[in-house]
Amino acid sequence: MTGKQILIVEDEKPIRDMIAFGLRRAGFEVREAEDCSTARASIADHRPDLLLVDWMLPDQSGLELTRAIKRNKDTEDMPVILLTARAEEQDKVTGLEGGADDYVTKPFSPRELLARINAVLRRASPVGSGESLEAGGLTLDTASHRVTAGDQTVPLGPTEYRLLQFFMEHPERVYSRSQLLDRVWGGNVYVEERTVDVHIRRLRKALEPFRLEGLVQTVRGAGYRFSTRAE
Ligand code: CA
Repeated sequence: MTGKQILIVEDEKPIRDMIAFGLRRAGFEVREAEDCSTARASIADHRPDLLLVDWMLPDQSGLELTRAIKRNKDTEDMPVILLTARAEEQDKVTGLEGGADDYVTKPFSPRELLARINAVLRRASPVGSGESLEAGGLTLDTASHRVTAGDQTVPLGPTEYRLLQFFMEHPERVYSRSQLLDRVWGGNVYVEERTVDVHIRRLRKALEPFRLEGLVQTVRGAGYRFSTRAE
């Protein structure tokens, strides 16, 4: 479980440093934010794989940030773990109602936090280990970046690969062009929406020899979806 990126939102620097140190040592890529507005900017710039949010923050509460993330269609599936000094059971209920995926009470050991993070990431990943995705006759291996149909390799450019990986991780859901730009290209890059259409076309063309182009479906007026059901 390395290479995953975690954003820590915590205003107390010693605690943030302590958490960041432990996570980096465990192989995670770590970004830090000291308040909610910095966190929002950081998420818009580059989407983390998981968010660790302290309850008590200077501008908004961590719970408010969590609610906002879970209410937004673009970020609702981003796992959030709330950190808090409050041990009362009621807070735990409130935290989970706000959409947090888990809850860790301070003081916690680095080992405990790591165990919770790994558990939440496993739950968030549709295929458990995240090593390979399978759907509709396609296999995508995230370690080797190879896509195969049966025993044949599907030749894909890097953008088509990322697009297909995103689709296979989120099957049956419709994404607009701007959502795909956000999620596949990253919110910090300026790319025109029609670029999405270009890469969708290339992806379909690459799937055509295997008669799998129907997996990438156009939903009129809405966007695109990856589906193993007929259009
Ligand atoms: Ca705090």
